[in-house]
Amino acid sequence: MPTDRATVPRTDAPLRWPVEPAQGGWYTTAEHNAVRSVLAESDDWQVGWKSAGYVGAFEDAFAGFTGSRFAVAFNSGGTALEMLLHYLRLDPGDEVISCAVNFVGPLLAIISQGGKPILAEPEPNTLNLDPTDVERVLSRRTRAILVAHWNGAVADLRPFLDLAERNPNPIHGAPLVIVDAARACGGRTPTGARVGAEGWATMFSFESKKLMTTFGQGGMITTDDQALAEQLRRLRTYGGTEHWGTNQMMTKAQAAVGLVQLARLDEMNDARIARAHQRTRGLADVEELTLPPTLHDRQHVYYRHNLLVPESWAGEGRDELMNVLASEYGLGSIISDRPAYLFHRLISARTADQHCPRAEQLTGRLLCPYLHPRISVAEEEEITGAIARATARVARTRSTS
Ligand SMILES: *Cc1c(COP(=O)(O)O)cnc(C)c1O
Repeated sequence: MPTDRATVPRTDAPLRWPVEPAQGGWYTTAEHNAVRSVLAESDDWQVGWKSAGYVGAFEDAFAGFTGSRFAVAFNSGGTALEMLLHYLRLDPGDEVISCAVNFVGPLLAIISQGGKPILAEPEPNTLNLDPTDVERVLSRRTRAILVAHWNGAVADLRPFLDLAERNPNPIHGAPLVIVDAARACGGRTPTGARVGAEGWATMFSFESKKLMTTFGQGGMITTDDQALAEQLRRLRTYGGTEHWGTNQMMTKAQAAVGLVQLARLDEMNDARIARAHQRTRGLADVEELTLPPTLHDRQHVYYRHNLLVPESWAGEGRDELMNVLASEYGLGSIISDRPAYLFHRLISARTADQHCPRAEQLTGRLLCPYLHPRISVAEEEEITGAIARATARVARTRSTS
């Protein structure tokens, strides 16, 4: 069992900017008014909290926004992904390929539905799933390829769709391309489509930290597959009269606020992208840092602003930089995400024979300092300056030690 190293700088000093913003976007009077009117209306016992009307309106708006035929709302992204995989009725030994660098949730969903998670390496530029490495691990048992638009860096899905076409499963046909867009809502892919329009199905999360939020929890699946959409609607509301199902409905208040957040998503993302670009420009001359790619052919939404320290700093030097940022400048940062098999017992047991050295190497160099769309231009200058000075200081101590 690999041991877990400190992932967050340990400092007693209060942070001016926490490790992660607790809310990814922000609410305006429009969100407040929406929930007030739902509350006033639902207080009437003849109306109540039945959510179908509002949830249906939110789903229609979301499908329209993403350019997909169907959108099905859930109480979280994690449950949505579980139901999506439930639909596949995986047999023991059926494989789902996923990037070694991602949140634990998708791997746990694969495990919960009886699938075997197969890990593949990230490509070094965006740390998104590397199609070349997917080719290495594809097998006759592959049922799906799970591609995350990781930390907002929108992935090109076309190489994965091609690979799936060329490597059909002998029983089920081409593996399905499932997209984890929890961190990329509103982004655009290289074909010009919105995230959510491509691949077999796409999962979104509206958890508090995400780019838009429905009171801290919520999720959505988009797809063009009518049979899938119908089955997902049954699964989340007790299965109709024939099938197994459970209750994973989004509430009326969540859907009402989701409608407002969706209408404001581009505004919130544009503000976030502007701060990220400012940070990238401001750090351009810091030669020790590898900055996130700008990706001109698509819309990167910068859920996080990933920085990579030099290879010779991997691990210790990176931790030192995070500590200096926190203790000297009050700037929190997070390592998002280390390969889950390094610190999660169940995942490490289920992926025992698999190692992704490139993922370990890259995430040993990774840190994501605080980023939020409401940081002002002046405040961002302070943050950028802090990152540059802290990096110079770590470089000095490392060259003299
Ligand atoms: C947040 C997140 C999820 C899970 O979404 P929840 O709504 O929190 O269950 C899945 N994948 C990624 C990449 C995420 O960031």
